[in-house]
Amino acid sequence: MAWYLNFIDPGNAGGSVSIPESPPVVLQPIVYECPRCSAQFGSVQARRDHFFTAHPYRKPELLLRGQLLGNSETVIHAPVQATDWLLGSCHRVSMNGRMMAPDELFQTLAECRQGFHVLELSNQDANERFELRFCIPELVELQRLEDVFNTLFLDNELSVDDVRRFAEACKSLKTANEYLEGVCQYLYGVLAKDQRGGTQLSHVQYKERFNRALEALRHVERPLARTIRGIINFSFNSFAQAASQADAPALAAAASRFAGWAGKPAKSCVVELQEAQARLPIDHATDRVLSWMALSSKRQERELDELQQVSASPLWTAEDRAKALVLWSEWGRNCRSTDELRRMARRLLNDAIFAGYAEQVLERMNQ
Ligand SMILES: [Zn+2]
Repeated sequence: MAWYLNFIDPGNAGGSVSIPESPPVVLQPIVYECPRCSAQFGSVQARRDHFFTAHPYRKPELLLRGQLLGNSETVIHAPVQATDWLLGSCHRVSMNGRMMAPDELFQTLAECRQGFHVLELSNQDANERFELRFCIPELVELQRLEDVFNTLFLDNELSVDDVRRFAEACKSLKTANEYLEGVCQYLYGVLAKDQRGGTQLSHVQYKERFNRALEALRHVERPLARTIRGIINFSFNSFAQAASQADAPALAAAASRFAGWAGKPAKSCVVELQEAQARLPIDHATDRVLSWMALSSKRQERELDELQQVSASPLWTAEDRAKALVLWSEWGRNCRSTDELRRMARRLLNDAIFAGYAEQVLERMNQ
């Protein structure tokens, strides 16, 4: 601030002394430099605008098959290829504390089968941490589990002791533990639903066991696991899911017909009929419904009495009773009295899946 005080009164001497002027100060225009790319700007606002548009803040990103991964743990259940991975806005990456080039990282990840790994990605703005847990089962272990399953259960009566023996025989197959859990829960569910095979579970507990099986088998992509999921979904009247089970064509076809009756047509996967497969244990009601569905139309009429009977049986679940009512309504339409038909259809009016179907049946009769 000194330069404009060129004249200073040195005291009270009456006069004034001229102090030589300081050399003129040439003011440089103030420049504002971008801290990122050194571009220069004449105003704070110009630099701010530049910085905002030219250097958007980006966090480093990790993508698996095009999906951004979050910072919470990602569990990987199926084998991945090196080309499935992508890095975004990432200048440096380390895996478990060791710096790696992206290619090496992707190759290493493609080889992971089991275990927990921490990736740290960084750029000039941020560091991001990603946790990956690999739970990719070994094929030989999955196959071994299926061998034991076939030996114990196919075409055999099912009992609690068999399920225990199965669990015991497969417990060393560490990478197949979800598969094992899912299959066991399914089998316990079948026993509970049918109240057979020495089960201690009550009838209502079948649902919880089936749900646990669905949860455990969620990521298991094997024909047996898919078929079990299909049976459970069929049992729960989730027909769309059951109709997509290419591994069990009869089940898929039946589910697809029920989906149509429920007013939600599901595309059944077209599958060439395979050779007769050994049968895996299923609950009695599903077994009955599937065999009814396979009958020729001539023989369907003969089943009406049994359908009527099970549709009122407390041993059948609400979902299975609803399926029996629908079959009765379809097959009894041309040979039973309208009174009877009306009475049966009314029983479906409160059903979550088939209420619309029942309304249509009743409407048709009033026309
Ligand atoms: Zn810049």
